[in-house]
Amino acid sequence: MNLRNPFTRPGRWYKANLHTHTTTSDGLQNPSEVAEAYHKAGYHVLALTDHHKTNDVRGLSGKNFLVISGLEYHPHCNGSREPHHLVAIGVPYGFGFDRLEPADANACIAAVKAGGGVTFLAHPLWCGHRYDMYSYLRDLVGVEVYNSTCGRRGRPDSEADWCHLLDAGRILPALAVDDSHGGDDRFDGWVWLRMGSLTLRSVMSALLSGCYYSSTGPKIHDFRVRRGVAEVSCSPVRCIYFSAHSCFGERRQAEPGRSIRKFSAPVGEKWRYVRAIVVDHAGKKAWTNPIIL
Ligand SMILES: [Zn+2]
Ligand SMILES: [Zn+2]
Repeated sequence: MNLRNPFTRPGRWYKANLHTHTTTSDGLQNPSEVAEAYHKAGYHVLALTDHHKTNDVRGLSGKNFLVISGLEYHPHCNGSREPHHLVAIGVPYGFGFDRLEPADANACIAAVKAGGGVTFLAHPLWCGHRYDMYSYLRDLVGVEVYNSTCGRRGRPDSEADWCHLLDAGRILPALAVDDSHGGDDRFDGWVWLRMGSLTLRSVMSALLSGCYYSSTGPKIHDFRVRRGVAEVSCSPVRCIYFSAHSCFGERRQAEPGRSIRKFSAPVGEKWRYVRAIVVDHAGKKAWTNPIIL
């Protein structure tokens, strides 16, 4: 996947939750109630991704607010009783798999693509899936790095899975989502999409190029590599990391009781990629997608 650095692209930031449930599957509120809640909370993009079923999203968008049709699907995972959890974004209302879904995950991903959509891998850690159980999946456009609903069971964080994919040369971006089913599981993980306009086409383009970053709180203002130096600036945080493949990377930590807002470090000779992670005083994180070196 050819990633675009959102911090060097024109446009503006749009806040998005791309994994959400409603009464169409196992959520507590109907699609219009869910859309209203995210709109009021300041989101610009919401994907409704009910289990196995799409929603008719006509009439749910509003001023500076776009609702997108998607679904979460569950093809069989070799070596596990728990099926894959895959999220399709951008498939039209009425889209379905007929008999494809239980058997063949890659055929499902291909069907999503043929239907105009894209697929990302949801919460592999919560599923108990190891790298060898999902590494055969083709044409993924991302992996969840954080899922707040999985956090209710103590497994919100799939960053290790993302690292396994990146270190194996599978250059994928990662997403934070809240996977809300209604109630108090909302607004705890999101992505900031960098786009020229608020349209479905722009969202799909951002997803296909990783032109966004993920957060559970902090804001990242800039991240780039210039003349061999990685640089990041952000809202006040306790710690900033540059993570490269396997054991490589750098860290800057604030003095006790203080905050830092930026960090720069020379890119190591052996680094294959670099990405930035910032952690605030409440433990909330934000993650950039990688820059390939
Ligand atoms: Zn799921
Ligand atoms: Zn879900």
